[in-house]
Amino acid sequence: MTNQRDGTGMSRKLHVKSYGCQMNVYDSQRMADMLASEGFSETVEPQEADVLILNTCHIREKAVEKVYSELGRIRRLKSRAAREGRHVLVAVAGCVAQAEGEEIIRRAPTVDLVFGPQSYHRLPELIARASGGSKVVDTEFPVEDKFDHLAPASREATKSRGANAFVTVQEGCDKFCTFCVVPYTRGAEMSRPVAKLIAEVERLADAGVREIRLIGQNVNAYHGEGPDGRTWSLARLLHRLADIPGVARLRYTTSHPRDMDDDLIAAHRDLAALMPQLHLPVQSGSDRILAAMNRRHTSADYRAVIDRLRAARPDIALTSDFIVGFPGETESDFADTLALVDAVGYAGAFSFKYSPRPGTPAADRADQVAEDAKADRLARLQQAIDRDAAAFNKTLLGRTIDVLFEKAGRRSGQLIGRSPYLQPVQVMAPTSFLGEIAPVRITALGTNSLFGMLAKAPHLHGIVPLTASAGL
Ligand code: SF4
Repeated sequence: MTNQRDGTGMSRKLHVKSYGCQMNVYDSQRMADMLASEGFSETVEPQEADVLILNTCHIREKAVEKVYSELGRIRRLKSRAAREGRHVLVAVAGCVAQAEGEEIIRRAPTVDLVFGPQSYHRLPELIARASGGSKVVDTEFPVEDKFDHLAPASREATKSRGANAFVTVQEGCDKFCTFCVVPYTRGAEMSRPVAKLIAEVERLADAGVREIRLIGQNVNAYHGEGPDGRTWSLARLLHRLADIPGVARLRYTTSHPRDMDDDLIAAHRDLAALMPQLHLPVQSGSDRILAAMNRRHTSADYRAVIDRLRAARPDIALTSDFIVGFPGETESDFADTLALVDAVGYAGAFSFKYSPRPGTPAADRADQVAEDAKADRLARLQQAIDRDAAAFNKTLLGRTIDVLFEKAGRRSGQLIGRSPYLQPVQVMAPTSFLGEIAPVRITALGTNSLFGMLAKAPHLHGIVPLTASAGL
């Protein structure tokens, strides 16, 4: 591998712009870590970069168009740099890269390198090849474990990332929902071995990270090889990670209702470190639409899982994903979705209008729903979700809950932390609280966050040391 320094010995600058899910944020951090060991330093300014990577996401509406319009801006930036005698290498990574492949270079010749999610560990070599002037496209699905090659975050890099960190435990999906590109862009389900995850979490906890968020496209389908030679479930992994000194909070996302097994539900009852919050996408409340989406569960199955979760952890904050206007969705199907929302009472949800993803079965259906009907349903759904989210937040008013302080707020003397339920909480507190968990009394509700006061005066304050409590 080449050492990426210019002729003056100065390190080259890297800018990674990340779109979409937490998997992408995590992957972008690993890319930056890996290139740091090759002499690259990160910059937040794209115009300073020698290597510019767009780590793309294919899930949201018009994702591909957004990437091409960003590449238009980058073309101008690259031309300006060329006039100053500087070559900027432009790379497109992530799910759009995987789905579009060579088409990206054909439509946007400013791009030098296109690589899919399974090629990240080869990044230094790919950059070296593309720096030689040839266009490089690498979107293979190799069998090797890319995580073996992705450099773990250095202690210094970890420290600068604060109180929480993502850890990818699983990647890919075998479910093949008919609207989704993930099984095509990220490949089959693959789980990382338990020993590697323990080592990664121990290193993060040692560097001061208090909250670990386990991520995967289908995280609760986790089935990694355990140190005992057996296959471990997500529940077993969570129990083991909760024992690591310094780990105060655990969360996991994104889950599929079919993989919420008894042990995982029991972990919500038995593990203090497992936060009372779960994102469990349902997509629709209509059994007819759920079948057309190939979700492999009914609305009643989903509600049964919710009932069991609430029996295990009554205060659990539930969030979900919804798609409105899936092909063939009628007003009656949509009424089933609203009924499900009313029955569950979500603490929040992401909702989107269906938009066809080329190559997925639903994209070819002739019974696409008209745009104005989709927009109308989305507005009604969001109104119902906002109503329930406000009601959930209201239950916290006047209560004292544990907050993990993550960063400075906009106002002087203000810190922003997270409640056990994942809401941002704004509190006046000294910076010595950063990275710590402390009880906070909730005094007011904002649109997207809660406001609170430290439950004890700072000089008397007993910061919660190494164990979590939901402060109920
Ligand atoms: S479960 Fe369905 S929506 Fe989720 S990643 Fe797999 S195919 Fe996509």
